[in-house]
Amino acid sequence: MREIRLHDTAAGKVAPLVAREPGRIGIYACGPTVYSRIHLGNARPYVVFSLMKRFLEHEGLAVTLVINVTDVNDKIYTAARAAGVPSAELAAEMTAAYVADTDALGVGRPDHEPLASETMDAIVAYIQALIDSDHAYVAAHASNGANGADGADGADGARDVFFRVRSDPGYGSLSHRHIEDMDQGEGVEGSERKEDPLDFALWKARKADEDTCWPSPWGDGRPGWHIECSAMAEGLLGTEIDIHGGGSDLVFPHHENEAAQTRAARGSELARAWVHNGMIQATGEKMAKSVGNIAPLADVVERYGPSAVVMYLISGHYRQPLSYSQKALEQAQANVTRIREAGRRLSRGPSPVALEPLRDRFFDALADDFNTPEALSAINAWIRAAAGADNGLEAGDEHLREMLDVLGLAQLLAAPVQAPPEVNELVAKREDARGRRDFAAADGLRAQLAQLGWDVRDGAAGPELVARDPDRA
Ligand SMILES: [Zn+2]
Repeated sequence: MREIRLHDTAAGKVAPLVAREPGRIGIYACGPTVYSRIHLGNARPYVVFSLMKRFLEHEGLAVTLVINVTDVNDKIYTAARAAGVPSAELAAEMTAAYVADTDALGVGRPDHEPLASETMDAIVAYIQALIDSDHAYVAAHASNGANGADGADGADGARDVFFRVRSDPGYGSLSHRHIEDMDQGEGVEGSERKEDPLDFALWKARKADEDTCWPSPWGDGRPGWHIECSAMAEGLLGTEIDIHGGGSDLVFPHHENEAAQTRAARGSELARAWVHNGMIQATGEKMAKSVGNIAPLADVVERYGPSAVVMYLISGHYRQPLSYSQKALEQAQANVTRIREAGRRLSRGPSPVALEPLRDRFFDALADDFNTPEALSAINAWIRAAAGADNGLEAGDEHLREMLDVLGLAQLLAAPVQAPPEVNELVAKREDARGRRDFAAADGLRAQLAQLGWDVRDGAAGPELVARDPDRA
């Protein structure tokens, strides 16, 4: 078996992946906060870790992939208020949209997709364990404005709970920051109730304008963001999970805090390797709703087709930033078309032995810190070699199928869609109309065909039908 190496952010280097349990790999990646449709940037970790799972399975490992959904969060309350809908309704709607948008990519679903709202018991127990071990404390005063009109001290005495950052000697070991350079990003919220500005919220007492809350020993409220991942990861994969993944924007504070919570509560590391993907950048900045340079995933998939979007997302090394532009997507689309057309010149069956080194180069590239650009270059080399293989006889497609399957792109080898008879009839009628120089009728028939999902391209060899769904062309 190949040695698989991955970059570990905590170690700051590429190191061999050594499974906690021989033959089994657990991956936990942080998923989206569901307050609007997801954008292309959110799709990158989804695709990277889904394909990493496929590759590790190809290498004979049993892989469990968990990607959570954060469905309780400040951003959801804010967006729901702006839209005038209950926050739970918005979160449920956007969770369904996230599933539909990522399904459309065709790279499969994670094995588990836990929701914060359905993990409350485990979250509350986790916070209690941190309080019991003195790593967390209940704020001395209730939050201002909690639970209604009488305000300042909270009607039912609901309290915030904070993590005591300086109680974890390992704090900072993931993000390699000095403790003085750490800002939890919680602003002034709760600052007067913290023992130390470094501390972060584990539980937030219910505020008057929040329409969901859960009971806890500290009164009604809801969890902070970081604790849900420690609880979910442990519940589904245990501690010292093999790979913890997510975008590089999560290293601090989110992942630093997840790691601290697990060390403090369990005395062990949350993850053996921390693997982070780079951001997608539009106009040189991270794609983010706050920056206003968003490309909604559904729009990009609709325009370029799912295979081109996956191809684009793996066109750069996962750790590097990836720039978003029409040109980059068009290049990915051209690459997809080239592979599909090459596939059609192959026969179904075993590939020539002489091409095995190129197939191996593909898998070796993925084993070397999941180097997808190098893997794609191996596919291109394989295609070029296959075109000249076997003295001009058709080469078998087995290697190509095996490689594309790991990239979630095996559909490129599917047979072209055959147009149904009624579509062919319309094409014949259009040819008639064109023969009569009745261009108005011909255009009408073209529009009718488009409505049925087919474009007509007029070439030297006569009309050619092309399915409008860019992935079935
Ligand atoms: Zn997380």
